[in-house]
Amino acid sequence: MSKYEINELYGSDSENRHLKTLLTDLGERTLYDAAAQCNRCGYCETVCPTYMLTGRETLSARGRNQFVRLLVEGKAKNTHAAAEALSTCLLCGACTSACYAKVPTADIALEGRRSLSGYGENFFSKIAVETLLKAPNLFALWLKAAYLLKRLGLARLAEGLGLYNFIGMPALKDAQNSMGRPPLRFASEILKKNQALAQKGKTSAAWAYFAPCGPNYIFPEVALATVRNLKKYLGDGIFIENSCCGLLAHNYGRLEDAREFAKKNILRYEKLTGSLGKFAVIGDCSSCVAFMKTYEQLFTGNDEWRPRAAAFAAAVRDILEVIPPEKVKRSQKAGTAGKVVYHDSCRACHGQGIRLEPRAVLKKLALERWRELPESDWCCGGAGAYAFTQTAMSNAILERKLTNIASTQADTVVVGATSCLIQLNSGLKAAYPTAKAVHYSVFLDNFGKRQE
Ligand code: SF4
Ligand code: SF4
Repeated sequence: MSKYEINELYGSDSENRHLKTLLTDLGERTLYDAAAQCNRCGYCETVCPTYMLTGRETLSARGRNQFVRLLVEGKAKNTHAAAEALSTCLLCGACTSACYAKVPTADIALEGRRSLSGYGENFFSKIAVETLLKAPNLFALWLKAAYLLKRLGLARLAEGLGLYNFIGMPALKDAQNSMGRPPLRFASEILKKNQALAQKGKTSAAWAYFAPCGPNYIFPEVALATVRNLKKYLGDGIFIENSCCGLLAHNYGRLEDAREFAKKNILRYEKLTGSLGKFAVIGDCSSCVAFMKTYEQLFTGNDEWRPRAAAFAAAVRDILEVIPPEKVKRSQKAGTAGKVVYHDSCRACHGQGIRLEPRAVLKKLALERWRELPESDWCCGGAGAYAFTQTAMSNAILERKLTNIASTQADTVVVGATSCLIQLNSGLKAAYPTAKAVHYSVFLDNFGKRQE
């Protein structure tokens, strides 16, 4: 069987498999109408990494939108090519940033992808998502077992036992080289015990920290740095004790599970606002934050959850956008970071329009060692599990990013998403080991002080 197949063409779906409508910049649209907004002008072609690398029309935003239209109409003759086009989209959103009509090609491609045969039906990802949803402690236990074996130098055993498959992260075994020492205590465990972040006795809070799975399970030092920064620059807050945002389930075709994750987080937020009043929900992985800002899209139609999801989404913020630069002072040791550049994670710049805010803070910290990274808003090729499912394309995209980084002679590359952190450090380690990627929260925590 070919690698790519579409057995069930779009239109014969159930509502559990596809979003009912898409919330576009021009209003609420069916998938077909959203794709039909693409007038094929080609204005976005030069910003689409997969098109620029291959020169293939089918791997551009215009090509992908056209395929989805044909699939809905039942006129797609070459379903293999359609499946390849939809599978290789990075979902980066660069095309939408460049598009006058703001056609949401990433959402459209993902909806098309839900029609691929077997999409969302992988046994292990089903078990993993369900465990994360219904028994997160068991999920954490599996992950710790895999990490422990890795620490003991038995990573292959963890792989052989299927531990990575069971946690739905077969990619993690490949990502391990760029992870450093895997944590055996997760951020949520540490933060739950932190009295300063407890809700008890509080009548208000400026913010609630939301721990995305990356900072929670892979880089707890990022989560802890975020919390220290929030306290230092924004005042008192709490840990929201959240569930996974649902992005993993959403992108792997398990829409109903994604809705369940969203409902859990919305309920938690509503309960806390009852006693604390309104507060910002702040996360530190741009992919998860951007997804939570679109929770309303999960519940379009007459769903009673829709306004509740919209209220939650309106409270969500990215750590990249909330630190006031006027409150930040450079610490003495900031010079040790060397030349500093900022890589715009796709879901920060294209997904949330965040570009200026982190730069304002970083420029204050880096001073004359700040450099602007050419093509800083080009995807690094990480894109969730893309680096492991589309390895050749991902490597080619990463190579372009590394060339741009090398052209600035940067020592530190600041990022805002877990996937970029893994992808860039993996590439830098191999090709440009004098530089390293650091999360924005960690950089600010290390080199910033509060301006009194
Ligand atoms: S997605 Fe937008 S910019 Fe790209 S071809 Fe379609 S209308 Fe033009
Ligand atoms: S989301 Fe990214 S990879 Fe996909 S069509 Fe748009 S620019 Fe290209």
